Amino acid sequence: MYNQVLHDHLDGGLRPSTAKILAQEINYSPIIEADDVANFFDRSSSTSLEDYLEAFTHTIALMQSYSNLERIAYEAAIDMHQNNINFYESRYAPFYSVNDNLSPKDVIQAINSGFKQAENECGILSGLILCGMRHDAQNVKAVAELAIDYKEMIIGFDIAGPELNYLPSLYKDSFLKVKNEGINITIHAGEGDGVHSIQEALDNGAKRIGHGVRIIEDIADDDKLGHTADYVLQNNIPLEICITSNLHTNMYKSPEHHPISRLHNLGFNISLNTDNRLMSNTSINQELYIAKIAGIENPTTLLEYSASDSFLN
Ligand SMILES: [Zn+2]
Repeated sequence: MYNQVLHDHLDGGLRPSTAKILAQEINYSPIIEADDVANFFDRSSSTSLEDYLEAFTHTIALMQSYSNLERIAYEAAIDMHQNNINFYESRYAPFYSVNDNLSPKDVIQAINSGFKQAENECGILSGLILCGMRHDAQNVKAVAELAIDYKEMIIGFDIAGPELNYLPSLYKDSFLKVKNEGINITIHAGEGDGVHSIQEALDNGAKRIGHGVRIIEDIADDDKLGHTADYVLQNNIPLEICITSNLHTNMYKSPEHHPISRLHNLGFNISLNTDNRLMSNTSINQELYIAKIAGIENPTTLLEYSASDSFLN
């Protein structure tokens, strides 16, 4: 049986040991001065989104060279392999790494080179989804154009960042262009905003929904489905569920309060994902454990590779 991960951010998954080494190489003091690097990045008891997002400024600071990007991508794939994953979809906002010495194409090439090394070594197949940052209209537009220019080197397009007040329809022109080029689209929706955001993601070409958990708000206590929930269920739209991440952004109090098992029992297409392994101090093995607490009897079945869900085809 093959296992897949559909939703994992490259800049949210550095190994603490690697972060320390790379920080020393460029004399990056915030990390060098930290007593415990894993602790420094851990945002599991974060009380605000700002505090959570602040952690990314420190990983991105270490992702400014070809060799660092290559190493981080390689290690991400190896770590997934060690969690029995065979198909790994990673995502990143490429312009975070663009500088005088690194073009957008270099960024994509470096990441793919790391993935290829991991594939040669242990067979894991990995691919890159490009993320536009939705609070920055110019960035989304530029990433969409980049995705089109290098569509043979990537597997999909997404928008990430703050969902509230940044609905997918703001970028309908970009989504349409990307879709017309045959590029797969997934959209973060139904995490920081509700059902209407999921509906907009679907209306703008999303084949999968990043998180999507708030589809539960379109399901009545008697299990009667609203329009959007009914569409998602009937069309088997994959929901990229990230339980620990949702707990850490205070969406749900505990795994028992997370809607994953209710959605699963109703027949929704659910997958298990890590989102940000470093900031959430998690792994796929940990998500399997949490999913069981959340009421999923056989969580490993939620990792099973499905050609219809994967962008790695
Ligand atoms: Zn995410």
